[in-house]
Amino acid sequence: MMNHSDLPCYEVVALKYATREGRRPDHFVGGDPHDVPMPMDYYLWVIRDGQRLVLVDTGFNQDMADKRHRTLLRRPADALKLIGIDTKDVAEIVITHLHNDHVGTFDEFPIAKFHLQDDEMAFATGRLMCCERFNRAFEVDHVAGMIRLVYKDRVIFHQGDATIAPGISVHKIGGHTAGMQVVRVHTARGWVVLASDASHYYEHFEQKRCFHLVHHLGQAIEGYERLVALAQSPRHVVPGHDPLVVHRYPAVSEALAGIAMRLDLEPIEY
Ligand SMILES: [Zn+2]
Ligand SMILES: [Zn+2]
Repeated sequence: MMNHSDLPCYEVVALKYATREGRRPDHFVGGDPHDVPMPMDYYLWVIRDGQRLVLVDTGFNQDMADKRHRTLLRRPADALKLIGIDTKDVAEIVITHLHNDHVGTFDEFPIAKFHLQDDEMAFATGRLMCCERFNRAFEVDHVAGMIRLVYKDRVIFHQGDATIAPGISVHKIGGHTAGMQVVRVHTARGWVVLASDASHYYEHFEQKRCFHLVHHLGQAIEGYERLVALAQSPRHVVPGHDPLVVHRYPAVSEALAGIAMRLDLEPIEY
């Protein structure tokens, strides 16, 4: 196991806050011959040690759950509370991309600065948003809200790769959206990569298949190699929406089984 002793080893927690039903053909470009259920889970991710706390994405609230037919299990703010975090204290947030399920509660973090790729803001405010095919997973109010935060100096823009703290970096993958970025974190088990929607399910990166909602199919497929290269091993890549994450990683505590999983610890089954 490669460890960089000069880097902090962070705790990384996946918080499940919502779910929806779905079927296999819904989740792959070209469909799938097996028309069986394939539910989708929704997560936020927390990276922390004694000194630092970085939140990755902000999820959505009941409004999006109602509008988009999903089941909100707990508000993201309440999910954070379960592991001792108050939204008022969160100073740093990585927004992997501006889809409604990743940026939806941004306005509940009064002091946070938001790390975002240049290409994502350009995409979410540019010509392709005239087209329903591309705009349907964005909420114009979320995008407008992020623009307002730009004018308050609360958005930190990146172009490509950037280290945001010792042992925490962002990497533009593109593919799913033009400015899709992933997060690489140093942990006691090596480098963990939070793929978010660069790979919704394990199957996407493992089998080089693509989620149906995509800006650039080639970049999405090439991005899978990048994900694996950034991670300590393929077992260190954490997909953004896969219910398997709940089963593969140990819970933070018995009380939080099925809700909060420790991604910095070795998987319990794989
Ligand atoms: Zn997305
Ligand atoms: Zn998503």
